[in-house]
Amino acid sequence: MVDPTNPGLVPSPRSILEEISFVYKRVADFKARVKEYYFEVILSQYQCPECKEGLRMIEPSSCTCPNGHILDPTLAFQASHCCGAVLIRKTFHYACSRCTQIVPSRFLFDERLFDKTYFREMMQELRSRDRRRREELRRLLAESRSDTLRFLEEPILDSIPGLTEALDAFIGSEMVSADAFSYKTAFSMTQYRGHILSVIGLGGRLFSTISPMTDDSRKDKAWRFITLLFMEQDREVTLTQYGQDLLVERRKHEAYA
Ligand SMILES: [Zn+2]
Ligand SMILES: [Zn+2]
Repeated sequence: MVDPTNPGLVPSPRSILEEISFVYKRVADFKARVKEYYFEVILSQYQCPECKEGLRMIEPSSCTCPNGHILDPTLAFQASHCCGAVLIRKTFHYACSRCTQIVPSRFLFDERLFDKTYFREMMQELRSRDRRRREELRRLLAESRSDTLRFLEEPILDSIPGLTEALDAFIGSEMVSADAFSYKTAFSMTQYRGHILSVIGLGGRLFSTISPMTDDSRKDKAWRFITLLFMEQDREVTLTQYGQDLLVERRKHEAYA
C-alpha cells in the first residue's frame, strides 16, 4: 500500500533503520562464522594433553575435548616470543612468566581477555562505595539542617556545623584563624579546581602530593581540602581515606566501558 505522506520515492526513516539493523545482523552472523572457522583451523594443530583428542573453543580462553577436559589454550600451547617461557594469565592479558612482558594471545579472536570474577567484584565494590557515599551525604545534609546544598564559589564554613573543627583536625593545627577563610584573602575555588584537575589528570593522587598554590601551607591545605569537598559533592572526584592521607581520584563516568 502506498503511504500518502511518502509517495514511494524516498524510503521512510523506519525502513532505513530496519535495513541497517538487518545489515548489522548479517555482519554479526558473518563474524561469528569467521570466528568459528578461525578456531577450528587454529585448534586443529593441537590435541588435548590428557586424552589426545581434538579440541574446540567453548568460551574466550577456554576449550574442551570430547572427554570433557577443559583448558586454556594460551597457557597450554603458547610460549612467550621474548623468552620462550610459559605464559601467565593476568586480569586483562597474558604475560611472559620470566620477564612479565605482555604477550598477545593467538587464541583470542577480537575480544579482550575478560576476567568475569574480577569484573563482578569491581562492580560490587563500585556500587557499595557509591551507596556509602550517598548515605554519608544524606547524613551530612540531615545534620546540617539545610534544605538545599549550594555550591557557592566561596563557601561559608560556618554554614556546615563542625566543618571548621574537622578541618583543624585534618590540618593538624590547634587553631585556624577566622581570617584564613576571609573573603579578603585570595581564595579562588575556580583556580584551585583547575589546579587540582591538572595535577590529578585522569588518574589519582594523594592529597599530600598535590602541589600547593600559595606559600602559606596551612591556608593552602585548607583551601585544597575545601575545593575537594565541593568537587566530591559535584561528583568530579572521589575521596578515600588512605592512612593519614586522602586519595583523590578523578571520577570515571564511563567506568569499565
Ligand atoms: Zn581430553
Ligand atoms: Zn619474556
